[in-house]
Amino acid sequence: MEPKIQSTSWNPEMIENAILKKWGEEEKEKDAYHFAIDDESKPAFVIDTPPPYPSGRPWHIGAAAHYAQIDMIARVARMNGKNVLFPIGIDRNGLPVEIYTEKKYKVRMRQMDRQKFLDLCKVALDDLEAEMIQIMKRMGLSGNFKEYYRTDSDEYRALTQTTFIELWKRGLVYVANRPNNYCPDCGTTIADAEIIYNEIPTKLVHMKFKVKKKKEEEKENENNTDDTRITVASTRPELLFACQAVIVNPEDDRYKHLQGSHVILPLFNREVSIVPHHSAKPEFGSGAVMVCSYGDQNDVQLFRELGLKEIVALNENGFTTEAAGQHYAGLRVNQARTKVIEDLKNAGLVEKEESITHRTPLCERSKTPIEIIPLQDYYVKQLEFVPQLKELAFKLNFHPDMHRQILLKWLDSISIDWPVSRRRFYGTEIPIWYCNACKAPNLAPSDGKYYRPWKDKPPFEKCEKCGYGDSGFTGEDRTFDTWMDSSISPLYVTKFGKDKKIFDYAYPTTIRPQAKDIIRTWLHYTMLRCVQLTGKMPWHEAWIMGYGVDEKGEKMSKSKGNVIDPFPVIQKYGADTFRFWSASEANLGYDFRCSEQRIAGAQKFLSKLWNIGRFLSSFEVIEERPQHLEPSDRWILAELAQLVKECRRGYSDYNFFVPANAIREFTWHLFAAHYIEMVKGRAYAANNNSHSNNSNNDDEYMGKRSALYTLHRCFSTILSLIAPVIPFIVEELWTKMYSNETTIHRQAMFRIEEGEEDAEMTKYTKHIIDFNSMVWNKKKETISKETGKPLSLKDPIDISVPPELEQFREDLKTMHNVLPR
Ligand SMILES: [Zn+2]
Ligand SMILES: [Zn+2]
Repeated sequence: MEPKIQSTSWNPEMIENAILKKWGEEEKEKDAYHFAIDDESKPAFVIDTPPPYPSGRPWHIGAAAHYAQIDMIARVARMNGKNVLFPIGIDRNGLPVEIYTEKKYKVRMRQMDRQKFLDLCKVALDDLEAEMIQIMKRMGLSGNFKEYYRTDSDEYRALTQTTFIELWKRGLVYVANRPNNYCPDCGTTIADAEIIYNEIPTKLVHMKFKVKKKKEEEKENENNTDDTRITVASTRPELLFACQAVIVNPEDDRYKHLQGSHVILPLFNREVSIVPHHSAKPEFGSGAVMVCSYGDQNDVQLFRELGLKEIVALNENGFTTEAAGQHYAGLRVNQARTKVIEDLKNAGLVEKEESITHRTPLCERSKTPIEIIPLQDYYVKQLEFVPQLKELAFKLNFHPDMHRQILLKWLDSISIDWPVSRRRFYGTEIPIWYCNACKAPNLAPSDGKYYRPWKDKPPFEKCEKCGYGDSGFTGEDRTFDTWMDSSISPLYVTKFGKDKKIFDYAYPTTIRPQAKDIIRTWLHYTMLRCVQLTGKMPWHEAWIMGYGVDEKGEKMSKSKGNVIDPFPVIQKYGADTFRFWSASEANLGYDFRCSEQRIAGAQKFLSKLWNIGRFLSSFEVIEERPQHLEPSDRWILAELAQLVKECRRGYSDYNFFVPANAIREFTWHLFAAHYIEMVKGRAYAANNNSHSNNSNNDDEYMGKRSALYTLHRCFSTILSLIAPVIPFIVEELWTKMYSNETTIHRQAMFRIEEGEEDAEMTKYTKHIIDFNSMVWNKKKETISKETGKPLSLKDPIDISVPPELEQFREDLKTMHNVLPR
């Protein structure tokens, strides 16, 4: 028989592009990935796909691997008969867009017309987005590209606004003026979740403060002019003018006598008191610490606790305020620091400067040290939800389970509500207008429309509070934190508020796949918002992937020069190779190493699979299980059943590492290396006689049928098991060998036929492997008398099959060309 697979080698580029074209047409004509309720009894499987951020090339190779694996989740579910929604969205809101646009077009956001700037952002995004979608498609993602969404679309932003209005109505939003994290570079409030901490070298300045004597002491020593001084150490001397107290540890013997005394602030000559407080650590600096508004979160805490009066030290541009006095006002933080230190030194008030590294809070985006300044912001309540969220976190099925800890730790650390207003442009607008008469905020109606208060007229005539409208309204010009948008993705994809039937069928969604580093943001905020709005968790499962790191296990970054662009790699080796590498390399939840060499290595298995397919494609396919199966066939089918079970275990945990490695091991090192060799003889005989021999009772004929059936039963099962991981090559082999009418990607995957599972048979596996290896080695070691070279594997050999392998004797004898005795 002619092999159905003609090509002697697998050509990924040609084959993958042809299949992509075929899939593209199916999507266009048949809406292959559209989600609808065709059959209510068919369970929905909804993936809350992370909308990737088009941040420009190269896309992180770890992120590309992440999306390849999300596609595997979708394909497994489809093969298991689920009604799959695999939405594709692009996240287009927020600060990085603005920064990218400013750079690309060499403009400054705050120095140009807002609408013009927003238009530029859109154009910049469109280019980046097109590239990203091209890569996603090339990787073989079976997502709903036809109906892909953008988080900056009117429809999406309208949902963000509607859900905010809903929270407002339920009393879950409030406005407050309080010290908040502020990034002077980004010019906006940021949430705790957007802060990272780095150890940064800085100077701890030991300053001499003059202690003012207590009244009674003054009386006692009226003539004593000796100045008592106390040393106060600080990394923020520039905030000296905003100091309202000095704290010392109540147990610190050095200062016990000074508790309750006053000190005079150097340079500013203002009096503040020395207060005992446990948060002063005797071992840090001099043990005496100044409390300023605001050096850090501890200061915020102390101002509240001690009832101190706040001095606004910095304005929204990060400059010192009038409160600094004429010498120090209007300076950048660094300038002010230099000047204060210089003046202190000149006055002889610096005892010493100590170089230390200080754990400094930085803006996650711009890496700028954050400041804490009092600002008026909108807050969404989250503190009161923490106990409920913690309880729900235990009901959420985490893959891997260990990453639940990250969420729990974060929930425990939350100390303030979520500030959601941002002083930025490219984001969803806060749908509020302020009455010019009474200043009351008036919300847009909850009508599903998208509102832009900075440019739109208010959609109402009269103020809700004072009843007047004649003085007009001023639109809010701030936007939301982008997590306000991202946190409703499961609501958006299930048509919350739009299509009740779909929503009831599809929500809560099945699974949230996401990266480890955004558990405290995306995962947490989505839980919070969805629980607030629906009373239910947004998903049943959360799948958390590790980071892609370089060959040495280090983080990839442009500055280190260890970044790998996934696109050329995929073009060179094929999407299947890339996908197989990602599955076989990344164990669930752990970081995984990326290098071109490792990816190239994954290609070997695909070549092997192709070669096995090509070889088997010249044998007749027998689909119906014969009455009689030979022992060798029953043995490999028993091993196949084990493989199916192992794959089912891996896939049900969404851990593709398990099936990828188990299938490679089985296919290469058991099926091809041992089984195919054992039954080749029977299979060839069947091929040669298949048309001439019609006698169904003939033992030999039965043996041949048994081999052909088993070879194809194994190989077609291997294909279906690995189909989610390497969809292209499998589709090609499947359509050529088994069915050109159907796609393998809708076949059932975990089929085990009755009787295949056989613990008696798998006992022989080790014996078979040992025996075959022993014979092969023996042939290698035996020098032929005729040729003077080692025996070839085909050469006859005089050896006996051990009794425990009796039932396999005939196959083994043929395989090794054992001489008759
Ligand atoms: Zn920043
Ligand atoms: Zn009013």
